[in-house]
Amino acid sequence: MGLGTWQFGEDSERREEEIATIRLGIDLGLTLIDTAEMYGDGRSEMLVGEAIEGRRDDVFIVTKVYPHNASRRAMHTACNQSLQRLRIDVIDLYLLHWPGEVPLGETVQAFEDLQRDGKIRHWGVSNFDLKVMHALQSTRGGSAIQTNQVLYNLARRGIESDLLPWLRKQRIPVMAYSPIEQGRLLKARGLVEFAKQHAMTPAQVALAWLLAQDGVIAIPKTGNRERLKENASALEHPLSAAHLHELDSLFPPPKGPSPLATI
Ligand code: NAP
Repeated sequence: MGLGTWQFGEDSERREEEIATIRLGIDLGLTLIDTAEMYGDGRSEMLVGEAIEGRRDDVFIVTKVYPHNASRRAMHTACNQSLQRLRIDVIDLYLLHWPGEVPLGETVQAFEDLQRDGKIRHWGVSNFDLKVMHALQSTRGGSAIQTNQVLYNLARRGIESDLLPWLRKQRIPVMAYSPIEQGRLLKARGLVEFAKQHAMTPAQVALAWLLAQDGVIAIPKTGNRERLKENASALEHPLSAAHLHELDSLFPPPKGPSPLATI
């Protein structure tokens, strides 16, 4: 499990608590931090940079480049700006935020340039459906991809019919974004009742369910230390096969392929 940071740095009154939450997350072992140049127009990256001050070696930084910056020239500039905001020398994992107009071959070359220059360690993608994944795999250098970050949670199981099994076969981890559906999932009656019966909170069930899925990383966002502790303790509540079966009846897996959902 890692830390999401969408909307971080956008409200000055929440800033201190957001920084404290990231620092607590690192202490609790949630050392993968996900951000993007898009979030708050760079303000999320700046806040992350401040929060990880003095702890660079403890964290794994994931950030994302806009599709319109995915050419060789523009990505070079965008990456330098992200590095500056994050106050680090190298990005651990740099993702293309969603598929865009720049040909995939050029984007892969841009990632390779940055790797050669020591500015990024690894690269990956986000919001790629199976068709675009196939196109990427047939692009020269495309098989070096390290993750596909997509919308995935108990209420959004569409990727299970085609994308997820394919990614598992290729041994490409999935990074599940909006793992509690931006908070909306926590009100689902079935989940609330299940959580009560098993002495967990709805957020812990939703996160433990994702962590039980092979090859899946969850990146919940909270800017509140109490909720962070609640979310992190999902790691201490692994779900049994019987629990997973019960959750399947409350939130059924897809019956067939559907277009990739996004938020
Ligand atoms: P999320 O993590 O599913 O939900 C975040 C919301 O839930 C926040 O409003 C948060 O409020 C609240 N929350 C968190 N824990 C809670 C708890 N235990 N009880 C009650 N409320 C709780 O949604 P997300 O932010 O959309 O997704 C997570 C991360 O994935 C993002 O932050 C971002 O890093 C990434 N993401 C990527 C993409 C992409 O296109 N690649 C798209 C969306 C998101 P508080 O902060 O007030 O606690």
